[in-house]
Amino acid sequence: MIGSGFGGLALAIRLQSAGIATTLVEARDKPGGRAYVYEDEGFVFDAGPTVITDPACLEALFALSGRTMADYVTLVPVSPFYQLRWPDGDVFDYVNDQAALERQIAARNPADVEGYRRFLAYSEALFVEGYEKLGAVPFLDFKSMVRVAPQLMRLQSWRTLYAKVAGFIAEEHLREAFSFHTLLVGGNPFATSAIYGLIHALERRGGVWFALGGTGALIAGLVRLFQDLGGTVRLNAPVAAITLEGERASGVRLASGEEIAADLVASNADIVHTYKHLLGHTARGQKEARRLSAKRFSNSLFVIYFGLAREVPDDLEHHVILFGERYRELIGEIFAGPALPADFSLYLHAPSKTDPSLAPPGHSAYYVLAPVPHLGAAAIDWAVEGPIYRDKILAALEARAIPRLRETLVTSRIFTPQDFVTELGAHLGSAFSLEPILTQSAYFRGHNRDDRIANLYLVGAGTHPGAGVPGVVGSARATAGLVLGDLGLPQADR
Ligand SMILES: Cc1cc2nc3c(=O)[nH]c(=O)nc-3n(C[C@H](O)[C@H](O)[C@H](O)COP(=O)(O)OP(=O)(O)OC[C@H]3O[C@@H](n4cnc5c(N)ncnc54)[C@H](O)[C@@H]3O)c2cc1C
Repeated sequence: MIGSGFGGLALAIRLQSAGIATTLVEARDKPGGRAYVYEDEGFVFDAGPTVITDPACLEALFALSGRTMADYVTLVPVSPFYQLRWPDGDVFDYVNDQAALERQIAARNPADVEGYRRFLAYSEALFVEGYEKLGAVPFLDFKSMVRVAPQLMRLQSWRTLYAKVAGFIAEEHLREAFSFHTLLVGGNPFATSAIYGLIHALERRGGVWFALGGTGALIAGLVRLFQDLGGTVRLNAPVAAITLEGERASGVRLASGEEIAADLVASNADIVHTYKHLLGHTARGQKEARRLSAKRFSNSLFVIYFGLAREVPDDLEHHVILFGERYRELIGEIFAGPALPADFSLYLHAPSKTDPSLAPPGHSAYYVLAPVPHLGAAAIDWAVEGPIYRDKILAALEARAIPRLRETLVTSRIFTPQDFVTELGAHLGSAFSLEPILTQSAYFRGHNRDDRIANLYLVGAGTHPGAGVPGVVGSARATAGLVLGDLGLPQADR
């Protein structure tokens, strides 16, 4: 198993739980992939995912071996799920409480209450068809796509999420509140299939959770589970190549030159990196890398991790979206380039609100991220632009969310699109791999098993169903199903 992101870990756990001796080989010094952890001056910063949805998909990994997630990590609910703030002072608390939601909607536009109810019902239907039924199904051939076409048509999946939301809801801030979610998985709400409207039902049903100790504690819990099952983890072990014998994978060769033999190989590394670099010595790898590189990739992110010598402001919630002056136009420039937009929308993560142990006493830990174009859409020199952009964002945060930010700043570090390339091997520095548009979904996404190399499997954001923690954990279920089927082993029932 190459790579220890959420997808790689979930697949490794599924295989090991089924009795398949699994070695997880990770390039970096810590597991987690995008869910890496930085520790600076007593602060703990989760690098990536912080909004944990569908905890049941994680619980299922423990249940495979009769274990319980609570023995490994504690998840606590977060409320509101998000606080949404606009530059004109408007604030919307996105909560899991129908009455409170409807009150806030009615205050903006009474007619939208009924529209919201219809959107929720639509989202529920999407959830059942798109997530429950298809979220962990491997789409290996075109026939599998044709089979689900009637459902996709019925749910109008060819329409964009924003267009669909706008059909239910008239007030602009509410349209943004119920369409911005696709940005959390690298989708442009003005281009992404309305199917992604299922995220709303996913959150309403399963809640939004946070792992005490941070998402890193959840990763540590998954690693411990894998090791308790007898699995082996090797860190600081970048894979240089997947080795082949004829048409079959025979193992991996590490950058150190060491060879590890295996009966089957699974890659959780970036899908283009897998074909272009790890299989670049084969015609198959070169051809598939060319095919994938021609596809559309999700935006990148610019992230600032920072610690303050002050407590979290009373009026600041754990997850805050700070919309900018522009929505549609800004998103258009983030996805298409050709330059870094002058304005930004921000997601601010204030985990100390829920778990003060992530910062020294009297201090607080944060990260803030701005969606930005990937390097193929805007060839920005981030070594130059990064510090300038950081200062602009911190000034905006100080004005809109955290008074005295700069005078209380103890530590900060940035992560740019270039770091997505250097640290994670991400094609073009994309934060979420292939863009989740209908023509790059299901059968049209990366396949969970290579079409030619029968014992080479893939898992993670570039495969079906796609990015986000529930997405890649679902991809692990789809991939594990293929492995177990290929080996004639019984399937797990969830
Ligand atoms: C800043 C940020 C915030 C996010 N927030 C959320 C959120 O709140 N909620 C949510 O659900 N999702 C969120 N996401 C999306 C989510 O984090 C990702 O979609 C998901 O974690 C990707 O998992 P993955 O399995 O594809 O693997 P990755 O996390 O991409 O891990 C792949 C691993 O493979 C390793 N690797 C690569 N090449 C090699 C090699 N040659 N040899 C060995 N190892 C290799 C890498 O080092 C890495 O550890 C966020 C993403 C980012 C970047």
